[in-house]
Amino acid sequence: MIFIKNNKEIELMRESNRIVGGVLALMAQYVKPGVSTWELNQIAEDYIVSQGAVPSFKGYRIPGLEPFPTAICSSVNDCIVHGIPSRQVILKEGDLIGIDVGAFKNHYHGDGARSFAVGKSSREVEILLSVTREALDRGMKMALPGNRIGDISWAIGSFVKENGFNVADDLTGHGIGREMHEDPMIPNFGIEGKGPRLKAGMTLALEPMVNCGTNRVIERGWEFFTADASLSAHFENTILITDGEPEILTLPYN
Ligand code: MG
Repeated sequence: MIFIKNNKEIELMRESNRIVGGVLALMAQYVKPGVSTWELNQIAEDYIVSQGAVPSFKGYRIPGLEPFPTAICSSVNDCIVHGIPSRQVILKEGDLIGIDVGAFKNHYHGDGARSFAVGKSSREVEILLSVTREALDRGMKMALPGNRIGDISWAIGSFVKENGFNVADDLTGHGIGREMHEDPMIPNFGIEGKGPRLKAGMTLALEPMVNCGTNRVIERGWEFFTADASLSAHFENTILITDGEPEILTLPYN
């Protein structure tokens, strides 16, 4: 069931996602060679708590795994998503890092992600970042009332393919609200005109995960990697469907 949020709920969604946007802006400042992903996690968690929220991801449970241990996911190079911050993972010049963060306040969640080049980036990383970010933009452009989820999925997936990259198998965007993951699922590839119809008041997390190489993924515990060890990037915004253009709730957009 896809929940339509009322005005009061929308205000609360704006607040939780404003906090996520704040974390993402902070991460843009702190990602540099020599910083550990653990330090990034601490900075993010401190900020979330300072805003009266709690990290949505910390303690998140799925069957068969220990609860997720940290406030952010930090996914370096061939890690697609759900990388676990560690004191041992120290960023190096030329790395690519995806940072995903959730914040929970007043019973509503925010969710967003950005990918960053660490220091000076290769041409490959630059292109991957720009294609992934534009794939998200193209998905958001289709997030209009009366359109369908498949229109978003198609816009993302076809743009990624045209650019010679692949979206990661089995990993999708999602509705979001009182729960971190609500209906509908939002695949990163699909068919125009298919799927549930978009209505004003829906809040959706769109999140293309784009691989330079194969679409296939390998899971190691929480962490998803590309099966061929190629690089992968991830951008995510939570948006509100309105009567016109969608409202992006997870600003600023680095
Ligand atoms: Mg998400």
